[in-house]
Amino acid sequence: TQTLHIVGGGMAGSEAAWQAAQAGIQVVIHEMRPKVKTFAHHTEKLGEMVCSNSFRSDDDEQNAVGLLHWEMRAADSLVMASADRNRLPAGGALAVDREGFSEHITQILRNHPNILISNEEITDLPSEGQWIFATGPLTSDALGAAIRAETGTDRLAFFDAIAPIVYADSIDMSVAWEQSRYDKGETEAERRAYLNCPMTRDQYEAFIDALLAAEKTEFHEGETATYFDGCLPIEVMAERGRETLRHGPMKPIGLTNAHDPETKPYAVVQLRRDNALGTLYNIVGFQTKMKYGAQTAVFKTIPGLENASFARLGGIHRNTFLNSPTLLDAQMRLRSRPNIRFAGQVTGVEGYVESAAMGLIAGRMAAAELQGLPLPTVPQDSAHGALIHHISGGAEAKTFQPMNVNFGLFRPLDGVRGGRRGRRDRYKAYTDRAKAAWQGWLGQQGLDGHAAE
Ligand code: FAD
Repeated sequence: TQTLHIVGGGMAGSEAAWQAAQAGIQVVIHEMRPKVKTFAHHTEKLGEMVCSNSFRSDDDEQNAVGLLHWEMRAADSLVMASADRNRLPAGGALAVDREGFSEHITQILRNHPNILISNEEITDLPSEGQWIFATGPLTSDALGAAIRAETGTDRLAFFDAIAPIVYADSIDMSVAWEQSRYDKGETEAERRAYLNCPMTRDQYEAFIDALLAAEKTEFHEGETATYFDGCLPIEVMAERGRETLRHGPMKPIGLTNAHDPETKPYAVVQLRRDNALGTLYNIVGFQTKMKYGAQTAVFKTIPGLENASFARLGGIHRNTFLNSPTLLDAQMRLRSRPNIRFAGQVTGVEGYVESAAMGLIAGRMAAAELQGLPLPTVPQDSAHGALIHHISGGAEAKTFQPMNVNFGLFRPLDGVRGGRRGRRDRYKAYTDRAKAAWQGWLGQQGLDGHAAE
């Protein structure tokens, strides 16, 4: 069989290499460090954790990232095995000794009979051979330019601008109402894509005060702090003038409060449907660098969001990522160049675990393709499947931003959004359903979970 080339030996590239090599494929990992550096990586090891040392919750019954851990362990993940070997005491979270972690990954991959490591930067998209690009949020400039030349400039972002995302079933619909501005939209679905939360003058003034006072995070050293048009953090807009937001994302025009049509709101916070399932809404224009605790406190003062539960909070970071819903197929291949797959954070997932999970799938998909064995479709009800579905078409392409795994990406149970069950029961039912689906999928690939030879 042909060789599989993997560009980037981070979370995704390392896992992809392991999965493919274990399936019997010859793999070359092309990793640019230490010759070319990034502002966040400090070693030449594979699988370096660049910032926190946490894999977040390890609860596989009540937490979506814990479920992802479970699925990866069941699929013989190298990243999870290394995390488990280097686990530090941290309550319900999986904290990891970062040096031991990346050392283990580096040793295992370096000594694997099917793997070669080549320290070089790849600067173009080859037209021959099977490739996985797993170059991460800090993809090198030269490669970023080559990807942009292939995809078009508006399809590869260099910064994310993440507005907070709220679970639909935690929004108080006795306060919020459904309406697009000026009732615009060609289809019923477009007209129903927005929810609105009204504010009185006092509420608006208090909100501006809270924004100005909130604690903010700084950019990392080396991360350029220039904002670009259309993506100013809301607190920066508020700093430019108390009325700026009321003339920007919080403008009240073109909207009538369905619960109180006579009273004109002083300002309106709009939320837009964030996924095809309708389980998630993002707060439009609310990208922010406020600290997480401050965000929750400030956003819960918005009428209708007092009990909001957040699938993710806002942020702005240096982050290279594709507009995957328009560029990738369900096999994570570039539609315009099917010999190239992408994996990891560059596909629009966010976080160590999610990135490694996308590497796990890409490695198996590429191995199966090289062996001429069809890989059964990754079940959408698994955590891996929910992420793949999201990036390859479930998310709105126009507003696509990186996403952590969360239960809002899962198909509602019994076809009922939200359902009547309590949240604990619902999450347990999601994780039970996911585990069964995942085990079924692994079972179809042979006893050890790998594609049968
Ligand atoms: P990486 O792990 O970054 O791996 C990509 C690899 O590709 C790197 O080794 C890089 O050197 C290499 N590479 C890039 N371009 C080329 C090229 N042209 N040729 C060859 N090799 C190349 N996630 C969390 O879960 N928790 C956090 O606290 C956290 N903090 C972060 C802080 C910062 C400053 C940044 C930038 C990211 C942070 N992330 C965090 C996100 C985290 O880095 C990613 O989720 C994860 O590392 C992505 O895995 P990956 O394999 O896609 O990319």
